[in-house]
Amino acid sequence: MLNWSIRLFRVAGIQLAVHSTFFLLLAYFAWEGWQDASSVGASGLIGALSSASSVLFLFIFVIMHEFGHAIAARHYGIAVPQILLLPIGGMAQMSAIPRNPWQEFVITIAGPAVNFAVIGVMMIFAPFHTEPIMANLREFLGLQVAAGTETDLHWPQLIMLINLLMGCFNLIPVFPMDGGRMLRAALASRLPYVKATFIAATIAKVLAVVGILLALFWFTPARYQTAILFGFIYFAGQTEYRMVKRREEEDERWRKTLDELHARTIVLPSELPPQNTP
Ligand SMILES: [Zn+2]
Repeated sequence: MLNWSIRLFRVAGIQLAVHSTFFLLLAYFAWEGWQDASSVGASGLIGALSSASSVLFLFIFVIMHEFGHAIAARHYGIAVPQILLLPIGGMAQMSAIPRNPWQEFVITIAGPAVNFAVIGVMMIFAPFHTEPIMANLREFLGLQVAAGTETDLHWPQLIMLINLLMGCFNLIPVFPMDGGRMLRAALASRLPYVKATFIAATIAKVLAVVGILLALFWFTPARYQTAILFGFIYFAGQTEYRMVKRREEEDERWRKTLDELHARTIVLPSELPPQNTP
């Protein structure tokens, strides 16, 4: 499945590629934009183009986020041959898994850090005028917005809102989000890796159940989609733990085999007939 991708261009030696399913996402948004525009008597084509381009605009920040991970990984000598764009987001594909908890923490936090840095830069263009951002955030969370509140976003505010949501969403301490990996890395600095993953995955599963309940009973917009997303997060936690445990068991088997081989090579000279030394 991962091979169904189209290579775009290279940036700083990193190949940017798009998975073919990404075009389904674009097609879906284009179709929705066409329908929405047509229903109010506007041009369907313009509606489709503007809806699809808003997805592309969003992915500019996804790419920047992934480059944050990639640059931090390269800092520790881990090669990042490719950044792959999927309908659910981006994926910086690394040549090795960072086993040092501190390195994993830095590589992981570097993604959301880019989003917050973008917010910082946008503050220069829209300094402290956060009222429309907060109003849109309240709307997004299904909360009441007081009448007369300014809700129109200018482009720096729109970029700030996108990056605020992207940065915060990725910091939720669940797998496969950055927050889950950061929590695991923090725990792994004091605990064995498998145990740290078990605790992080358990916390993630509890949060996923809380998320499902909140989505169904409080968070009104996109209720079922959000509940399904948290359902996916629940299973992602379980999968991550199983994967780490299996990898650790395989490593352990290899260690034992190598120990046995090592023991044999040490035994070997004593099995040789004694040599006469002059
Ligand atoms: Zn990330």
